[in-house]
Amino acid sequence: MEKKAFVTKEMIEEIVKKYPTPFHIYDEKGIRENAKALKEAFSWNKGYKEFFAVKATPNPFLMKILHEYGCGSDCSSLTELMLSDAAGITGRDIMFSSNDTPAEDFELAAKLGATINLDDITHIDFLEGILGRLPKRLSLRYNPGGVFKISNGIMDNPGDAKYGLTTEQIFEAYGILKQKGVEEFGLHAFLASNTVTNDYYPMLAKQLFELAVQIKEKTGVSLSFINLSGGVGIPYRPEQTPNDIRIIGEGVRKVFEEVLVPAGLADVAIYTELGRFMMGPYGMLVTKVIHEKHTHKEYIGVDACAVNLMRPAMYGAYHHITVLGKENEPCDHTYDVTGSLCENNDKFAIDRQLPKIDIGDYLAIHDTGAHGFSMGYNYNGKLKSAELLLKEDGSVQLIRRAQTPADYFATFDCFDEYRCLTEKK
Ligand SMILES: *Cc1c(COP(=O)(O)O)cnc(C)c1O
Repeated sequence: MEKKAFVTKEMIEEIVKKYPTPFHIYDEKGIRENAKALKEAFSWNKGYKEFFAVKATPNPFLMKILHEYGCGSDCSSLTELMLSDAAGITGRDIMFSSNDTPAEDFELAAKLGATINLDDITHIDFLEGILGRLPKRLSLRYNPGGVFKISNGIMDNPGDAKYGLTTEQIFEAYGILKQKGVEEFGLHAFLASNTVTNDYYPMLAKQLFELAVQIKEKTGVSLSFINLSGGVGIPYRPEQTPNDIRIIGEGVRKVFEEVLVPAGLADVAIYTELGRFMMGPYGMLVTKVIHEKHTHKEYIGVDACAVNLMRPAMYGAYHHITVLGKENEPCDHTYDVTGSLCENNDKFAIDRQLPKIDIGDYLAIHDTGAHGFSMGYNYNGKLKSAELLLKEDGSVQLIRRAQTPADYFATFDCFDEYRCLTEKK
């Protein structure tokens, strides 16, 4: 499928008068349409709820848009819990799916009334030790081990993943929870990431639904909810076919009716914790070309770097690039598009066919709406960028300002006596 930027050169030329590049910009219209489609795809399930994976795009303005469509938040740390609470998403609207969890994180999750999803059997005692007694509602994260396969091959490798309880531990753990007075139970699993196929959720659902039936038989526990977690992917590459959320929702409904309904589990609520699928395509990193270099290869140097988008450096991930204003020109040049870090993996594209690029051109790097800005860091003293929201009416709102050198210096103890003294006055 052709990948089109949701901004034009003319729009960016206006925006940069106020907000200089680089910045991430999000498309409110796209976010809303997608959230609505997801909600409709699972409307057959009475208790359905999406808990947006906050780590993907931790911005309260975006979280609040999703909240309008009934989405809660999936948090994994103390600060994400605080952020969700501050955004007005609290209580049962929070799923706390963490691992290697510090005590203070569990404490806050319980205080906010979040649903806690335990990553390990030992966390039952750990949590009880912290809170004095277990919450009435608890969830367990399952990891069957092995590899996760669908018809066209291996999708991921749960056996190598640090998360979740084994099958044996799952049965034991529900027995313990029941005996300790827990009344509402959930089951969670995240077995494959960025799946660009409509088969992942239905396959995962079948596995979890069958397990739910066994749990009921073996322990007498009837689950209240089954959390399919994240992992529904997006087409980063133009040749990929996007997932169809309606087909996915229907696929899950079919196995629900085949497996859960006959077992007397028709009231189970389906939850999801999507991150990438909710935001990925609706964010772009906009950056300006500041150098070209002709050495052993042809390099285009931009004003963004891996600090603003780490996925290419970290996973060799493909992110499509549009040279704004040159959408219809032939891609007859081969470039490496680089940032300025003193790291040779700081490349947004390697040997990429693009139109002829000139200094001053604006590049839109696609699909940065999830796991983009949020993975950023401050290596080489590089500062994190602003985040902008392109609203439905075409106006632009600053939803996070760019870091300044003062932000970078703010966490040092006083080392500059003159400055510290003048600041303390
Ligand atoms: C990262 C994560 C998600 C979201 O994953 P996506 O690939 O963005 O859909 C959901 N749940 C948990 C527990 C996660 O760690």
